[in-house]
Amino acid sequence: MNLKIYISADMEGVCGVVDVEHTRREGKEHDRARKWMVQEVNAAVEGALRGGAEKVVVNDSHGTMRNLLPEELHPEAELIIGSPKPMSMLEGLSEDFDGTFFIGYHARSGSFGVLSHTYAGRIVADLKLNGRPVGEPGLNGLVSNFLGVPVALISGDQFAVEEAKELFPGVIGVITKEAIGRYVAKCPSPEKARRMIEEGAFRAVNLLKKGEIKAVSVPSPVEIQLKFLNPGMADLAQILPGSERLDPLTLKYVAKDMLEAYKAVRAMIYLGYATIK
Ligand SMILES: [Zn+2]
Repeated sequence: MNLKIYISADMEGVCGVVDVEHTRREGKEHDRARKWMVQEVNAAVEGALRGGAEKVVVNDSHGTMRNLLPEELHPEAELIIGSPKPMSMLEGLSEDFDGTFFIGYHARSGSFGVLSHTYAGRIVADLKLNGRPVGEPGLNGLVSNFLGVPVALISGDQFAVEEAKELFPGVIGVITKEAIGRYVAKCPSPEKARRMIEEGAFRAVNLLKKGEIKAVSVPSPVEIQLKFLNPGMADLAQILPGSERLDPLTLKYVAKDMLEAYKAVRAMIYLGYATIK
């Protein structure tokens, strides 16, 4: 069985990362955090290959999307680097893959968890799909499942892992740190975190091989409710054809399926960005 694994790699959920000094390009500790990020990705790649995966594609999904140091990436992995990408954190994912891993993921906007946000910390206050609040684990994971590719592994703090576990039965969760506050966490050593990720990836691939992690069915249509941080953002984002203003901060949009929902959410976010003065 020739298993193909897709990895979407973010940074806020990486062991040791707790502050914008780690996550922003101009942050004083960003270069160190980039190394921790690539090391966690490499642990996931190694575990997947050891479990029998034949191909692993890694998509750099954080900020500039140029964080992972190509020269330090696992030699057997392929890297999608750069932005903008039409599918953003899911660029390159297709029906051809057998499982998706989310590495370095974080909790949704408005919830507990280290550096919690949903795609755009300066834009999105809350996102609901069919009435359920979701962050990046939920939104991205539902798109993956819609394509028939189950989410098999997530790593991050306890809140990021919890969101994935609620939505995707069977997903293996690796808690790389215990969030204590928005900018505080209790962390194992990075080496221990990497070992847990490698082991999780190994187990995930084995469960995928045995058919024990399956894609969940994703409902269509999908009703989006996106609440912005200020009404000016909704003023402009409502030019998205088909959107409806529910209140000063919230736009509703009914998408025919999960893929359209993903595109609509991202279009609204970019329109929101255009209003920042
Ligand atoms: Zn993120």
